[in-house]
Amino acid sequence: MIEFLFTIDYEIYGNGTGLLNDLVYKPAQGLASLFRKWDSRFVAFVEVAEFEKIEAHGTDPAIDLVKKQMAEFHRQGFEIALHLHPQWCNARYERGAWILDDGEYNLCTLPRNRITEIVDSSLAYIRHIVNSSEFTPLSFRAGNWLFQPTQTAASILHEKGIRIDSSVFKGGLQHARHLDYRPALKNSYYWPFEGDVNQAEQTGRWIEVPIYTDMVPFWKMATPKRLGMRSGAGGGASKQTLTHKLNRFRDRLRFRYPLKLDFCRMTLMELTLMMERIIREDQDDPETFRPVVAIGHTKDLNDFATVDSFLSFLKTKKIPISTFPDIYPRLEGRELMNAGQVPLSESDTARSAV
Ligand SMILES: [Zn+2]
Repeated sequence: MIEFLFTIDYEIYGNGTGLLNDLVYKPAQGLASLFRKWDSRFVAFVEVAEFEKIEAHGTDPAIDLVKKQMAEFHRQGFEIALHLHPQWCNARYERGAWILDDGEYNLCTLPRNRITEIVDSSLAYIRHIVNSSEFTPLSFRAGNWLFQPTQTAASILHEKGIRIDSSVFKGGLQHARHLDYRPALKNSYYWPFEGDVNQAEQTGRWIEVPIYTDMVPFWKMATPKRLGMRSGAGGGASKQTLTHKLNRFRDRLRFRYPLKLDFCRMTLMELTLMMERIIREDQDDPETFRPVVAIGHTKDLNDFATVDSFLSFLKTKKIPISTFPDIYPRLEGRELMNAGQVPLSESDTARSAV
């Protein structure tokens, strides 16, 4: 059985440039009205560190609209999930531009007490936005997909009540950031884990539901739609160091490359072809649960017609569109347990209180 999850990273450009109104608020409004039309909901991975800084420094008046929008999404049943780019936590605003702290780029490599500090402050801010001191997001996506090395950050986030990660894209490799999700290629559509997000562990307290990818030849990555977006992604290409360029080159020295199921960057043809393959697989083996996670970014969202047609395609194929809280009992194995089977992991009683 397939369930489809639209996840959208809700943020401005990674180098701190861009306006909230153009890159976050307006595209998210358009997407939400499209989803309401289809009576569906998406998962908003809200990058709270930047919003907290932007509000504190008063650098973009649209922050009020963004905060209202997030509160409204929460009320309307869209999932508010935690996304973190920790390089914002020490950011300075000088002469009209943000200077981010690259030393804190990867949450997972920071000392335990610093991770706790960042997570606590992010959760406090997200609660402030949705106007609920009780709220704890269920799901997490690391900035730049970096959830390695997993152990310390995962244990802290779990302590705070977060249960699902969706940072992995199977087959992913970035030499410069020490990201390597190639070992996850052997895993299924989701898996429990504990200390290493690549390794399925039956007793793991976390559940990974990766961003869906297909391994494709490199030339398939370069469609005009994707290339057009890269050039608009906040610049910075000319400033890349030689090491960075070399690392990018090494990342691409492969026969096959992971193409993420990206509803903002892919054409309708690519999206439906990818889904047709999953549908065929499901017809051969309908008992396996297949949560399929698509990714998008508010800053990339300008082709609403494709998203509309793709939603229509999914409805025609009778594929349910869900959020992580919708599918969590099934991921956890509680539904299986009810049917008298062995659960994937211990039932999580804490979750029911969140
Ligand atoms: Zn991000």
